[in-house]
Parts: sequence; structure tokens; C-alpha cells
Amino acid sequence: MKDARLALRYGLAGMVSNTGEGVLIRAQGPCSSLRAFVKALKDEVPRSACITSIEQRYIEAQPGRKGFVILASQAGGERKVLISPDVAVCRECISKLLDPEDRRYGYPFINCTNCGPRFTIIESMPYDRPGTSMKVFPVCKECAKEYHDPRDRRFHAQPNACWTCGPSLFWHGSNGEFVPSADPVSNAVKALRQGHIVAVKGLCAKAGQNAMEISSDTGLRWGSEKYPLPRKGQGGIPQPAHRGHGRP
Ligand SMILES: [Zn+2]
Ligand SMILES: [Zn+2]
Repeated sequence: MKDARLALRYGLAGMVSNTGEGVLIRAQGPCSSLRAFVKALKDEVPRSACITSIEQRYIEAQPGRKGFVILASQAGGERKVLISPDVAVCRECISKLLDPEDRRYGYPFINCTNCGPRFTIIESMPYDRPGTSMKVFPVCKECAKEYHDPRDRRFHAQPNACWTCGPSLFWHGSNGEFVPSADPVSNAVKALRQGHIVAVKGLCAKAGQNAMEISSDTGLRWGSEKYPLPRKGQGGIPQPAHRGHGRP
């Protein structure tokens, strides 16, 4: 919700809401602030966003109105909103990923409003967490605080997650058996370096429950696409997005 942050920057009052047709903003304030707000909307588009058009019209101001609020998304109407692609992890998130002092140190599903999954988790529009495959992971108190803080870079980041509340990685052996591991990513790297096959399985809105499936009979399958399974080596299967095993 970059637009809400911009409205606060320019001291505007009003509201913003996601709809199937796009983002609806009602803002009021001095003309110079409104002009600066619209200019910033165009100039400061988030890396993962693309504004196809902005339609403006004047409406009557509401006397005494203060504050800028984010209203619940409005479903229905003609769907015109483009679905954002998944975006590779950004520099800020990488720095936190590698920071032993940060609460997301080493967390493989770190993301923010500038990076992370979008297309592969969206099940319905408007784009809100209940309409994504992340709906099965209720956010913890700290993630909720970030989500609701306009000054935070995770303000209204729908896939926001951490070690406490988000998906986790788990390592499964070549027969699909769960193998306790403190570092499934290192297991995968080691297996690949030894010439083994590694399959990634997880939550994905576009391919049922699994982003990728592996089978000794049919090989690798991603949605409707199939790939033959190379015969060299034995595979390991790191499985993210299960709950209940605790922190890997
Ligand atoms: Zn990020
Ligand atoms: Zn959390």
C-alpha cells in the first residue's frame, strides 16, 4: 500500500481500497499536495508494480475529515487488475536474511512489499492474504505489527511471514520419508553437487497443492507440464509449507 504511505507523506485525508478493477483512492487536501501525491504515484512505482492508467476526477471534500485509512478490499466488478509476477528477493531482504541479529536470519521465505511471491500464491482477486495460499498461515504479533505500520517496508505485504508464523522447509529422503534436518537448503545443495536429483514441493495456487511433483513413473510434473526424470543418482525432496514440525 505504497499509495497510503504517499498520502500520509503529503498530509492528505481519505481512503484507499483494492477492487477487482484496480485501486480506488479518495484523497482530500490542498491542491498542491494532491498534485504532488499524483506525481509521486507515477514516479515512485514499486519495483513489482506497473500502473497501466490513472483516472482522476474531483469530488466534494468532506469537512473535518482527518487521517488516511485502508478499507477492506471490494470484490466483484470487472476484473482489470494485472496479477503481479513473483519477484526475486530484494537487497534489503537479503541483508536481513544474512544478519544474525535479525529475527528472520536464514528464513528461506523472507519477503517484503518489494519482493516475494505474488502470481504463484494468488487464488482470487483482489489480492489479499485470504485470497492466497498463505491464508493457512495466520501472522504472528510481530508480523502483524509490520503489516499495519505504514512506515514499515512490509506494510500490507500479503505474504509477510517469519520463523514463528510462516511456512518452513523440511527435508525428505528419496523414498519420501521425513528426515530431521536443521538446514534443508544445505542438504539440497549437497545432494545436487553429488549429482543427485532434488525436487521442490510446496504450496502453490496454480498447481493444486504442489509447485512441483516427482514420481519415479512419470518424472517431474509442474501443473500440466511433465518432464522425464533423469536416471542418475538418488533424489532428496525438501518440502516447504508443511506445518507442525517446528523450526527446521
Ligand atoms: Zn524484500
Ligand atoms: Zn511472523
